[in-house]
Amino acid sequence: GVHVSSLLRRNWLLIATVLSVMLGIGLGVVVREYANLSHLDKQYFGFPGEILMRMLKLVILPLIISSMITGVAALDSEVSGKIGLRAVIYYFSTTIIAVILGIILVMTIKPGVSQTADHIDRSGTTPNVTTADTLLDLLRNMFPENLVQACFQQYKTRREELQPVKLPVNTSAPTIPPLTTSVLAVNITKDYQIVGSYSDGINVLGIIVFCVAFGLVIGKMGEKGRILLEFFDALNEATMKLVQIIMCYMPVGILFLIAAKIIEVEDWEIFRKMGLYMVTVLSGLAIHATICLPLIFFIIVRKNPYTFTLGMAQALVTALMISSSSATLPVTFQCAEENNRIDKRITRFVLPVGATINMDGTALYEAVAAIFIAQLNDYDLDVGHIVTISITATVASIGAAGVPNAGLVTMVIVLTAVGLPASDVTLIVAVDWLLDRFRTMINVLGDAYGAGIVQKLSKRELERMDLISDVDVANPF
Ligand code: ASP
Repeated sequence: GVHVSSLLRRNWLLIATVLSVMLGIGLGVVVREYANLSHLDKQYFGFPGEILMRMLKLVILPLIISSMITGVAALDSEVSGKIGLRAVIYYFSTTIIAVILGIILVMTIKPGVSQTADHIDRSGTTPNVTTADTLLDLLRNMFPENLVQACFQQYKTRREELQPVKLPVNTSAPTIPPLTTSVLAVNITKDYQIVGSYSDGINVLGIIVFCVAFGLVIGKMGEKGRILLEFFDALNEATMKLVQIIMCYMPVGILFLIAAKIIEVEDWEIFRKMGLYMVTVLSGLAIHATICLPLIFFIIVRKNPYTFTLGMAQALVTALMISSSSATLPVTFQCAEENNRIDKRITRFVLPVGATINMDGTALYEAVAAIFIAQLNDYDLDVGHIVTISITATVASIGAAGVPNAGLVTMVIVLTAVGLPASDVTLIVAVDWLLDRFRTMINVLGDAYGAGIVQKLSKRELERMDLISDVDVANPF
């Protein structure tokens, strides 16, 4: 009676979202079966979902700026250094664990051994993307030359021959989400290109680096700095209020998003053919999410990790539906702060960075996919290759932006590093839209656990700060 109704009231949004996912799938299947929609009709059909995506992306910029600046300025530089270091150690070690898990699974299940890659057209130019290029691009992105430009454009690459391209209409290639201004294209074969961008119109990494520096300076400026801190704190609060409003629209948006996707997918047969490969990736992600991460969390935090996961449920469903860690970020904040009660000083600092560089799911996927492609090619991998794959998969996951299909683009680095034809990305493209959703979900979960773990590890510093300052720093005003 009373208990159930209060449970319903507290979780109405989550319940509505889950219901709308199921309803959306049902609607998609029915419309697919019985209605013969034209290309244009399909676009109209997905429109409410498109609006949801636009609204979520809209708040990313003010959210990242305000949370990073207040997050850093509220801590003294020594403390923020320590917290930053802990976060980086967590990101790095969990990513490596994910990669190793992926390698173990794909070498045991061997999803590519019984098939061959003979049927692929390899007539195209092989793109030449090296690990060094990616690292340099990453560094370039960290130091945008123009702050305003960084807010809406991010394309920065050494490879001048890669020109922004228009997406070919109506190819058999899977639809790649329409990207904003700049596009990085990798020619895979002569009539096929992989198109991606480092981020969805925002150079998140560059903004973060700037905000960290800016926040540190503000924190040291005394009275004058307080004015700015107050401003950005108010901006943050206002943005989070907007996020709450947007989240009310979420069930509607998601219903049409998933229905439109189901109507749009052309080749379902491919799922049978690629079944074992998908099982490998998905079971790796599942093990990482239900065993590896919870175990680390439990060892350090000594709390029930599954309660923590449940607290993140809304963000996880969102990630699953929109395949983008950065567009999920507003919801991740909401869940981490409101449900899991993580200190704002930690979330503001750690979550935006995590959404950009910490991608356990993507790293696992990159390793599995690379070895799967090697198996398809009957390509013998020695220990050196495996080590190379582990390193490049990690780099590729850091370099991938938190946008749909980013991992597929950075996959090229892993393949070229071990001498596999980069054009073989085409082998896994068709099922990527589905795998992308699940790896994004694990990416978001990893970020959230990271915030919980870093908070626990930084407990002493946080308490000391509470004692010495008369203001509540998490909520300074
Ligand atoms: N879509 C993923 C994310 O946003 C990145 C990827 O493609 O792996 O986290």
